[in-house]
Order: sequence, then C-alpha cells, then structure tokens
Amino acid sequence: MSRYWSDVVKTLTPYVPGEQPQLKKLIKLNTNECPYPPSPRVMAAIAAVSADALRLYPDPESVALRRAIAQRNCLQVEQVFVGNGSDEVIALAFSALLKHTLPLYFPDISYSFYPVWADLYGISYTTIPVGQDFSIDPASYPACNGGIIIPNPNAPTGMLMSLDALRTLLRKSADSAVVIDEAYIDFGGESAVQLIDEFDNLLVVQTLSKSRALAGLRVGFAMGSTTLIEALERVKNSFNSYPLDVLAQRAAQASIEDEDYFRLCCQRVISARDMVCSALTDLGFAVLPSGANFIFASHAKHPARELFARLRERGIVVRYFDKPRIDDHLRISIGTEQDNMELVDALRELLG
Ligand code: PMP
Repeated sequence: MSRYWSDVVKTLTPYVPGEQPQLKKLIKLNTNECPYPPSPRVMAAIAAVSADALRLYPDPESVALRRAIAQRNCLQVEQVFVGNGSDEVIALAFSALLKHTLPLYFPDISYSFYPVWADLYGISYTTIPVGQDFSIDPASYPACNGGIIIPNPNAPTGMLMSLDALRTLLRKSADSAVVIDEAYIDFGGESAVQLIDEFDNLLVVQTLSKSRALAGLRVGFAMGSTTLIEALERVKNSFNSYPLDVLAQRAAQASIEDEDYFRLCCQRVISARDMVCSALTDLGFAVLPSGANFIFASHAKHPARELFARLRERGIVVRYFDKPRIDDHLRISIGTEQDNMELVDALRELLG
C-alpha cells in the first residue's frame, strides 16, 4: 500500500490466473489450453508478415479479421468486436453494457474474474446460487437487473445451459444486456450466436485461446446487435485504439478461415474428454457432465486438496479452487492422449 495509490487500487483484489509453472517435465492440465498446435495456416500467416507491416500501426478496426468472423457466423462486420483475449472483451463489456444503477447478476459458481471487473469498475453485483447439481436455472434471475453475465458452458463446472433456457433468460431480461461468455462452447455446445437476430440485448463472447489453440496470441471477440457492438467500440476507442497487433490480426484470421482443422481439433478433444470421464468414473470419481475442454470431478473418499498436491509432486498440474461449494472438486483440462493416460495412471496409484 502506498500513499500514491488511488482509492480504487487500494480496494482491489486482483484475479489470480492459473500458474504457468516452469518445471522441466510437466503435464499441464490447469488452464484449459488446447493440447494440440494451432492450424498450420496460422504459422504461415505469421511468417508472411513483412517488416514493413510491423513498422506501421495495425488496422485499428481489425476489419479483415472481423469480416472473417462475421462470415463464419452469418453476421455483418458491424456485429463483431475483437479484443486482446476475451478477458479484455468482457472487461470492456462490463464498462460499456453492465454498469447500471441496478445490480449485475451472475452465478455464484462461475468465472472468478467477474467480481474483479465489477469491483474495478464500481459495479454493484449479486450472485445467484447454482443448484445443488450445479445447474443454472433462468427462473432464479430477476427480470429487473442491471445486466447478466453467464459462462456457457459454465466455468469451472463445464455444464451447459440449453438454448431454450437462454431464450427464457433473454426474454425475461429484455431491458438489460445479457452477456454469454462462450469461451468453451466449441467443445460440443450450441452457440447462442443463432439467437442474436431474435434478441438485441444479447452479447456472445468467444475466444481463440481454447478451441483454436491460440492462448498465447490473445484474441477474443464479441458478437451481437450493432448497438451493443457500438458500445464496446466506444469504450475501446477511449482506452486503446490498437488492442490487436498485426501478427494477432493476420494469424487469427487464418485460424478462423481453417474450418476443417478447427473441427478436427475440437472432435479430438471431445473424444479424449469422454475417455478421461469414463476412466475417472471407473476410479470412483463423480464427474459433472462437461461441454468444455476440461472436467470437474470430486471423490467421496479423497479430498481434492490432497489429490491436487500429490499430483503436483508428480509433475501433473491441475486446478484446485479453495472456495466454498467447490473445494472438494478438481478441474482438470483435457490434454494429449499421453497426458491423459499419465493422469489416469497417477490417480489410480494415488487412490490405491
Ligand atoms: N471466460 C472464461 C469462462 C474463461 O475461463 C477464460 C479463460 N481464463 C476466459 C473467459 C478468458 O480467456 P481469454 O482471455 O484467453 O480469451
């Protein structure tokens, strides 16, 4: 604490991301990265960037990338916003669309960055408990609100909400913006993007960090009605005109345009997830139904905290949240076939 700090900085409790350990032999299953490389077209696009392109500022509007995203999702360019990772896109949405007199609502078990952004921007919020089974019920959200944000599938549970449930929520909350954070939607879920024509209060946020294996590139995007997108543009252009550099814009466009590679990659992760789920179930874990590239599992006889520590000693890093309601669970990212096998073998040994 310093007398130079602003009042808001003094009150902040920043988000702590999953660690990026520097261990030599490491099986990294803690931050839901893709176990496979990005499309070869991504690397070719990066290699093709000229020195002259780096000398100049990038396109502040990222038009070519936004056009590629728009085309893939049957939208207009003006319905697409891009940013430096979906974290930045969501942060801008907090300021542009979710800051009102009435409180913002989100599930008690959800992405732990939401309360951090709310505090940063001075947004009052109320969390709504998910059910005993971790499901999200649209009926538990008040019609009168300053905005709603929900990850779908939810993080860290991996559980999906149906489009029908989202429709109910959007209809009920017609006077405020509803942000659906679809960081993990490509692993078997149905995107709410198809509801955008029906609901002008819907903002869908996606990322290239997970299903497109580009967490290191930092590209995320939002899709919605032109008025919602305009709000994001206004905040972005009051903060940083060039959130995406030349490399990110070109590489992200190449990734979006390689639909075949994308589908193959997602399918491989989904098959591997099903394998890990059934292996852990056989070991006595209760595994929540996952629509994501991770699973959320607990074991009645073995505390999650202990399993987390024992796995780490063996160089296998998963995620443990020391928080009420979920401190008996482990969140385990789906890795390569080899990673997953080693995880299952290690757990089998630890469980005796
Ligand atoms: N939303 C959720 C639910 C996430 O888990 C993450 C990853 N931590 C993000 C958004 C942000 O991802 P990125 O900034 O890499 O796009």
